[in-house]
Amino acid sequence: MELSKILICPNCGSPLDFSDDRRALHCSGKNGRVHCFDLAASGYVNLLAPGKMNNAKTGDESAMVKARSQFLNLNLYEPIAESLASFIESGDFSSNNYLKSDFLKKNFSEKRLILDAGCGEGYYDLFLADKIANCEIIGFDASKFAVAHASKQAKKRSFQEKMFFAAANIFDMPVQSECADAVISLFAPISENESRRILKNNGCLFAVIAGERHLYEFKAALYSKPVLNETRRPEIEGFLLKDEIEVEYMAVLPSKEAIMNLLTMTPYYYKCSPADKERLLSNDTLETTVHVRIIKYSKL
Ligand SMILES: [Zn+2]
Repeated sequence: MELSKILICPNCGSPLDFSDDRRALHCSGKNGRVHCFDLAASGYVNLLAPGKMNNAKTGDESAMVKARSQFLNLNLYEPIAESLASFIESGDFSSNNYLKSDFLKKNFSEKRLILDAGCGEGYYDLFLADKIANCEIIGFDASKFAVAHASKQAKKRSFQEKMFFAAANIFDMPVQSECADAVISLFAPISENESRRILKNNGCLFAVIAGERHLYEFKAALYSKPVLNETRRPEIEGFLLKDEIEVEYMAVLPSKEAIMNLLTMTPYYYKCSPADKERLLSNDTLETTVHVRIIKYSKL
């Protein structure tokens, strides 16, 4: 991946390039000041502008990342990843939309860049990197712990050539304008202005949001009166809603640990009372609906 053509400095906006030993990224600087960012051993880099963002408040803590990756590794959300991958593959999401045949996709060297705005621990990115031909993926998240985890997993799978993770502000992403073929946003706030800025013309934004019945039985075990989620297809200025798919199935949480880990991934973790939590954790296993909508927007 030619990161030097994509990444920019979060402080001054000038292009970032590798140092000679490839252990750091540095910018070309403005007004005589050059900024340097060390790469961690796992390969990620912290591109949160100092002072602009307080990682301790906005990022996931290490324990939260561990809980989420343990849950995701049960692969109960794999159908979501699978559906997103086919949705991306099926459409004309990139400027390379003439690459229709599998033969051409596999044998054509031009790579399509997918940017994950709020990538967490990289579960979906690793899945996409495996399934989508000729793609490169950059994942940004406010949590250093999350991108460190993502980066380690990418290394383990020998995906370093096609994946890169950085701690970064998804509302002010350190990348060149019009660099991405697709932006993905899974259960994360959508940074509309940034998505529009960084997408190529004809590029697409794929948003994964919770559907009405998402985790209904899980909520019923937590609250005495569960309600359906409100689902509003977000209208996004400068984008056209192109297509939408729904993914719905039942999943069995196989243990108390899995139930607890899922709770930490949801907003209910912060909202529920100790009594609610106790009620939920009185279950040893729990079957619940998984229901999401994947919405595809194209840049106008
Ligand atoms: Zn700089």
